[in-house]
Amino acid sequence: MRTAIIGGGITGLAAAYELTLSGREAVLIEEQPSLGGVIQTEVVEGCVLEGGPDSFLSAKPAGEELARELGLGGDLIGSLDEQRVTYVIRGGRLVPLPDGLLMMVPTKILPMVASPLLGWGTKLRMGLEIFRRPGAPQPDRSVAAFIEDHYGREAVEYLAEPLLAGVYGGTADRLSVESVLARFVELERRYGSLTRGVLAARRAARARTGAGESAPLFRTLRNGLAQLTAELERRIRPRCRIVHARARQVERAGPQWAVRLDGETLESENLILACPAWQAGALLRAADERLAAELEAIPYTSSVTLALGYRREDCGPMPPGFGFLVPARERKTLVACTFVGAKFPYRVPESHVVLRCFLGGSGGEAVLEQNDEDLIRAVRAELKQLLGWDSEPRFARLRRWRRAMAQYEVGHARRVAAIRELAARHAGLQLAGNAYEGIGVPDCIRTGRTAARALAACP
Ligand SMILES: Cc1cc2nc3c(=O)[nH]c(=O)nc-3n(C[C@H](O)[C@H](O)[C@H](O)COP(=O)(O)OP(=O)(O)OC[C@H]3O[C@@H](n4cnc5c(N)ncnc54)[C@H](O)[C@@H]3O)c2cc1C
Repeated sequence: MRTAIIGGGITGLAAAYELTLSGREAVLIEEQPSLGGVIQTEVVEGCVLEGGPDSFLSAKPAGEELARELGLGGDLIGSLDEQRVTYVIRGGRLVPLPDGLLMMVPTKILPMVASPLLGWGTKLRMGLEIFRRPGAPQPDRSVAAFIEDHYGREAVEYLAEPLLAGVYGGTADRLSVESVLARFVELERRYGSLTRGVLAARRAARARTGAGESAPLFRTLRNGLAQLTAELERRIRPRCRIVHARARQVERAGPQWAVRLDGETLESENLILACPAWQAGALLRAADERLAAELEAIPYTSSVTLALGYRREDCGPMPPGFGFLVPARERKTLVACTFVGAKFPYRVPESHVVLRCFLGGSGGEAVLEQNDEDLIRAVRAELKQLLGWDSEPRFARLRRWRRAMAQYEVGHARRVAAIRELAARHAGLQLAGNAYEGIGVPDCIRTGRTAARALAACP
């Protein structure tokens, strides 16, 4: 049985790999001249630059598992967590996130009390939250409403909003707490207090696993995430046809799916849509209008990444730590910035400093229309204010990612359940990728492989 996969990002590649493992015939359709989707690595002056994602959460095993399975285990590196300080901009200054914070949940009293990031009212409220008792179950809410309810508005503005803007390119006022912070919703249900819940969960985890060495927060590959996509491509090539063309439409042709490309129609029994949901919706419109409408209703944001590389001797002092986040209240152009060499030392030689800047996202998408020179100038002016120095970068690499980041807005879980139900009515159809049950690289790998396994399991 043949399977057509539309989308050659990490999701489609993982699906193709899984199909070829089980000896199934697959054809992978990708409109760009290269595979990998938003995973794009480039090496400049010995510095490994990631145009899209730079790493994945080690708490989600699918990324590490796949890397090891592909023989890349020796190249897996972890974030240098002993240097993990993340700053949040407040009043134009870099203020470290207090120690003991799990996302926006405080678990240590003293660092929180001493931190200038939040005012006394918020600190008091955070301290008292521990006495909160479980209440009646609540319907899905925005992350902002949820965090404000527990810790107040300032915690939304200086913790939740910048953290989520950095991960989702989204806004806490619209993102669904059920989909984005499911674990916290569960802790609220059980304990009432998030702080008490996090402390209890941590104690239980320690009792289970002992107080051994903990895994780094992020993992990645020494020479870039494109190592993963390149190896997947190498593995699937002998058994999977790769077609570089844009899929225009998919429809049923008897027991088959007909995939219309420019100038060619491919037929297959099975179909995996591993492209963004808005694209999957457009492709499916002729086959199922309702499913198409639900898919197209998942919003996406666009973003820009900009890597600035300097000779170390040209730079002023760098604050220790991984980088900083800019809350919407303080934001001009920059949303976040990673000090790459501090987070992943193997990726930047001692002689260099690389700043990876993240721009755009919800409400900031006008930056996508600005030209490169204006954007680089604006970012350098902001960096000068924040870091206190401005030197001529040796190189700059800018990438625009249009409608690449799915937004799990309030009601997302209900919409995904409806999508799954509608899709299940079509024999041989699977949907995978970052639009459904997880935005990160490991989620995409998991959904790609699961989709392929579901099809391979069919007689
Ligand atoms: C800037 C940025 C930074 C990120 N940082 C991180 C991070 O650090 N860690 C993390 O875990 N996640 C991160 N993410 C999220 C993660 O990278 C993505 O969710 C994941 O890589 C998406 O993979 P995908 O294969 O589902 O989609 P994509 O990579 O978008 O691939 C989809 C592919 O489908 C193709 N396509 C679409 N329509 C068609 C069509 N009609 N015909 C043919 N081909 C088509 C596209 O050309 C594309 O190549 C980041 C995302 C972005 C954009």
